[in-house]
Amino acid sequence: MNQPAPAAPALSPAQSTNSPVPRFVLAAITCPRCEGSGRLPQFRHVEAGRCFRCQGAGQLSVGRVA
Ligand SMILES: [Zn+2]
Repeated sequence: MNQPAPAAPALSPAQSTNSPVPRFVLAAITCPRCEGSGRLPQFRHVEAGRCFRCQGAGQLSVGRVA
């Protein structure tokens, strides 16, 4: 079980010297599934209608690289 590591991809730490820490922008958007209500009346038979997309929060946190 001591296999050699596969060839590393072209990415190496030395290549990202100009921006060592990627910047992430966190934004909260209204859940498109429940439109911010956190509930889905048509799914009230499942977990009391809690939106499975946002877990009932009504908003989704999306992160993207700036
Ligand atoms: Zn939702």
